[in-house]
Parts: sequence; structure tokens; C-alpha cells
Amino acid sequence: MPQEVLTVNKQTIEKMKAHYSSQLDGAVPPGAVFRAKTANAAITAYNSGKVLFQGKAPHLEAGRWGSSSSGSAATKTGKKSGSPFPKQVSGTVPAGFLTGSHIGSDETGTGDYFGPITVACALVEADKIEALRAIGVQDSKNLNDVTICRIAEDLVKMGIPYARVLLRNEKYNQLQRKGWTQGKMKAMLHHHAIQKLLAKTTDIPTEGILIDQFCMPDVYRRHIASEKGQVPDKTYFMTKAESHSIAVAAASILARTSFVKEMDRLSAELGVTLPKGASAKVDAAIADVIRTYGHDKLETIAKVHFANTKKAEAYL
Ligand code: MN
Repeated sequence: MPQEVLTVNKQTIEKMKAHYSSQLDGAVPPGAVFRAKTANAAITAYNSGKVLFQGKAPHLEAGRWGSSSSGSAATKTGKKSGSPFPKQVSGTVPAGFLTGSHIGSDETGTGDYFGPITVACALVEADKIEALRAIGVQDSKNLNDVTICRIAEDLVKMGIPYARVLLRNEKYNQLQRKGWTQGKMKAMLHHHAIQKLLAKTTDIPTEGILIDQFCMPDVYRRHIASEKGQVPDKTYFMTKAESHSIAVAAASILARTSFVKEMDRLSAELGVTLPKGASAKVDAAIADVIRTYGHDKLETIAKVHFANTKKAEAYL
């Protein structure tokens, strides 16, 4: 049975107990503070501070509270460690991180032929977490674009500090030809966004920075170092972080909003509705653009190395 073990302090155990208060199990084993059962896992918290998560998807529960101390999935991302959750789960944040003030960073537009890659990061203070949940902040993949843009407006009105950066395709294509991978572009974009946000939030203490993981952390660090940058202290990585961290979820909403707005702007400018993604619909739109504006136009609006460029020829 998959399992995760966390070591946490007494306060966190009390918070856990409160969090699972409606799912407590009467049969508390010896030495335990409480036992609870959710759809994901059975959770047993011990006086020692050890908390055991066992069941179908223990990482989903454990990820709320911190990173594993038992050398299981959390600390060995992607390695063949015998972990039941390689790569997918890397909850490498300290206990209490996700419930404390922290910065989250996320990107979008990487798989879309048209439109920029956009990255956003947001600083969510602990006392704002509940309010953010209340306005519907969650993983933007679960929300439609209209809702996403509305929540983004609310985030701005609430004064949540954030920063955004956008990589237009003219530059994207230049970097791509220079040999930059998308991974390196994303790393640098996250880095710039985070630097921007840190510069304007120096007065707000946080537990650190959580980046929705798109590559191995050491690869990220190498990308930043290769451009003479320095990754700030207390930077952590987690896959599917937008479903664990409210700050990453907020960042995903802000990033998506700037992507959607830019796509609307480009579509209006061209008089062609540019589809998102990289499907056959995109191929047909490419052909439209080429017919009206010529092939060179793609350079400024599309990631031209995608296979779609070639596929569009079938429509011409
Ligand atoms: Mn992401």
C-alpha cells in the first residue's frame, strides 16, 4: 500500500486534527493523537510527531502538510527509488509551508502554437488564504477562461501582490534558434517574475517560494546559473503544485489571464480567431494567416518550430 510519512510539530498535528475533524476515526491506536480517514488515505498522527498517510493516494493528503521525511517519494523526485509515486509527486516543502505566507509561481502557453508563454507569481499571506478560497481560487485547469479572468480581477482588487512576465513569440523563436529549450525559457521567465515580485514585497516575510515543477530542480538551478542568475533561498518545487498551494493556484489564474488577453488582442489585430492549443484547428488557422499576411507573420505570433507549421501546408 502506498504510504507517506511526515514529521511535524505539535501545532501542525492540532491543525491537522481540526482539518480532519469531520473524518476522525474513533479507533485511535496506542501512541496516536488521532486517526482520520479520507477518500485518499487513512491518516494516523502520533505523539512523536510522525504522521502516517496510507491508502490509495496518500501524497494528496501528505502534500497539504509538508514533505516526506522518510525518504519516500517526496525527496527523490524522478529517481527509481522504489517509490510508488516517482516524479509525479514531489512535495518538497517544509511542514507548515502551504498554510503559511508564501509565493507561488506558474506558467501557461507552453503547449499553445499561437500566443506567448506567460508566467505569473503571487504572494499570498497566511491570513488571506481563506478569502482566496472564497473567491474561487483553485487550479485554473478546472476553470473556464471567463471565470479565470473574473477571479484575476478580484485578486487584483484584493491587493494580492503579484508579478507577470510574458515571452512574445518573436523573442521565443529567436531563443529557440539559439538553442534554448522551452525548459530554459520557462526557468528564466519564472526567475524574472519572482525577482520582480521579491523586489516589491521586501517588507512581507514568507516561508519561501514554490514553483510548479516543470523540470528537475537541479536542471532549473543550472538554467538560472547559466544566465548568471541566482535562485533565491527557500525556493521549492512541486508537481501539480496548483492543486496544493493557493499561491500557485492564484499564479496559474494570473498567468492564464494574461495569456487569454494576449490571444484576444492578437486575434482582434489579425481579424482571425486564433485557437488555443496545437490541434488541427490551429493548422487551419495558420493557413488563414499565411493566406492573408504571408508566412513571415507567423514569426511574431506563433511558436514556429511546432509541427503545426508544416501540417498547415496541407490547407494551402
Ligand atoms: Mn504549471
